[in-house]
Amino acid sequence: MMMTGVLAITAGCGQKKSDFKYLLDEFADLKVMRYTIPGWEELTLQQKEYAYHLAEAAKWGRDIHWDQNCKWNLPIRHVVENILENYKGDRTSQEFDQFTVYAKRLFFANGIHHHYAEDKFFPECSQEYFKSLMEAVGEGDKCAELLDVIYNPNTLQQRRSTSTDGDIVVLSAGNFYEGVTRAEVEKYYESIEDKTDETPIAYGLNTKVTKDSKGNIVEIPWKIDGMYGPAIAKICEELKLAAACAENDIQKRALALLVKYYETGDLKVWDEFNIEWVKDTIGTVDFINGFIEDYNDPLGRKGAWEGYVNIKDHKASERSVILSANAQWFEDHSPVDPRFKKKECKGISAKVINAVCLAGDSYPSTPIGINLPNADWIRKQYGSKSVTIANITHAYDYAAQESPTSTLDEFAWDEAEKAFYREWGSWADEIHTDLHECLGHGSGQLLPGVATTAMGEYASALEEARADLFGLYFTADPKMVELGIMPNKDAYKAEYANYIRNGLMVQFTRVELGRPNTEAHMQNRKLIAEWCYEKGAKDNVIEKKVRDGKTYFVVNDYEKLRDLFAQLLAEIQRIKSEGDYEAGKYLIETYAVNIDPALHKEVKERYEALNLKPYGGFINPDIVPVEKDGKVVDYKVVYNDDYLKQQLDYGKKYGAL
Ligand SMILES: [Zn+2]
Repeated sequence: MMMTGVLAITAGCGQKKSDFKYLLDEFADLKVMRYTIPGWEELTLQQKEYAYHLAEAAKWGRDIHWDQNCKWNLPIRHVVENILENYKGDRTSQEFDQFTVYAKRLFFANGIHHHYAEDKFFPECSQEYFKSLMEAVGEGDKCAELLDVIYNPNTLQQRRSTSTDGDIVVLSAGNFYEGVTRAEVEKYYESIEDKTDETPIAYGLNTKVTKDSKGNIVEIPWKIDGMYGPAIAKICEELKLAAACAENDIQKRALALLVKYYETGDLKVWDEFNIEWVKDTIGTVDFINGFIEDYNDPLGRKGAWEGYVNIKDHKASERSVILSANAQWFEDHSPVDPRFKKKECKGISAKVINAVCLAGDSYPSTPIGINLPNADWIRKQYGSKSVTIANITHAYDYAAQESPTSTLDEFAWDEAEKAFYREWGSWADEIHTDLHECLGHGSGQLLPGVATTAMGEYASALEEARADLFGLYFTADPKMVELGIMPNKDAYKAEYANYIRNGLMVQFTRVELGRPNTEAHMQNRKLIAEWCYEKGAKDNVIEKKVRDGKTYFVVNDYEKLRDLFAQLLAEIQRIKSEGDYEAGKYLIETYAVNIDPALHKEVKERYEALNLKPYGGFINPDIVPVEKDGKVVDYKVVYNDDYLKQQLDYGKKYGAL
């Protein structure tokens, strides 16, 4: 499972201090960023070497993912690479620009279909012009075939078909099935699946399904001597080199199993690998490598190839350890009725990581959190790893600040508010999230006899509100400065102002005009912000201001706002602890659902005028071995800033298929 950052608006840690440029390029509906690797220099030489080989193994899988997305992707990419590198004609014309934008989109999507929407996209330059480029670099013989794939709107329309009346297997352009129907595939798996097995393998995860010459359904395995063999051989080579410098024996065993799985294609070995992989919680360097998520398959079976290398963020992980260790103090000091408090309270410590290399299904567009493995029975018996990826989240935030337009600039009242947010906002926001996750959800208790299901359909929104309020209340507590988590006693104000702005306005950019607010987290934010706005009105705690026809919400009194958060937390905890369904329903229905139509329209219009790119992706830093007297003495991180160059370099260096 993965959490995507498509809608990540703010988050981040600490203010941006250096001149490092995060936002590199913007085109179509996309932006390309880069990320830093905090903690790299603290690694030992052996850990760096381990990460280096894992990153090489990740990058060698690139072509697999391209081919999985559609079998025409690699032939088209090879032609595009040839043109970008060798075309000698006019490169300043508008048509060449349009061709280049197509190339950038192709690289971003790992193919001819949009990475998120999954529809085929088209070059803006004419087909005749594209043909002339191909002819100019000696690819004229491929024009008839490839240009039809690129330009014909009636073929290969969707990577994963969402058709409701057609055959989604036949209609999908993805390369998981060929010459077979949905019914045939389903019948085939029905016949081989053992439904009584309590530890089932992931049937079909690593194969393409087609028919043999006699018309029988067959699976072509993705393994070292099967389909994708040349790429998998390279991956295995690097995994073996990695194993030689692993941090511990669990990692060594896991890597040996992963290589064995790639050699045999045996899904039982894949499960054995995952069980070892889950056990490794002590290492600093970790990775994902294999056929992982099944979202791209219309039948939800086939794993998209993915590579990910990361290192533990000790500082951020330590913060959640401190919070967890002090869980009882927070519980004792929370502003709720003592009857609803836990007598013994434990926090949850989450692992925070920094990405070192993104590849395959995670490159350039990448998740901001990961929870693996996917097999339910392994998760139940052996656990799972749930991580948040700090440096990617930060890069999103910093890149948003670099953009000439931002929601902060548009919706914050004045320069002072903006500057204060830029200084402390991402820091305070991240700490609020830590409190929400590590302590908020785990706090409080139900009175005896109250069912956990008592809040019915309002449960999620109320639960999120409870966790958010717990976080908001304590973000401002002097204890946070004392524990060394908050940098100073005022930083929390950046989070308060941002929370109110978002809850009352900014988040509605994501709701279609005329529709109510229905998503649980968005309901929770609206509930909290609206309730505090109304209850604080007599003291002008939050003030609605209008300037040049634009609405703003400004916090005037932070202490009183904190007090309102405390009151609402106490009330929602009471509702949950007593199972007071009617009171919970009243809060949600009154404050969380209905959006003022005039304000909604205004917010949507202001947001659209910002012309922000909805989707983001990243280029990787290079990890470069440093040699001295023929021996590698260090691995240096080199930050590139050229998106196309990285794509072309990867094509040359890791072009296995
Ligand atoms: Zn939550």
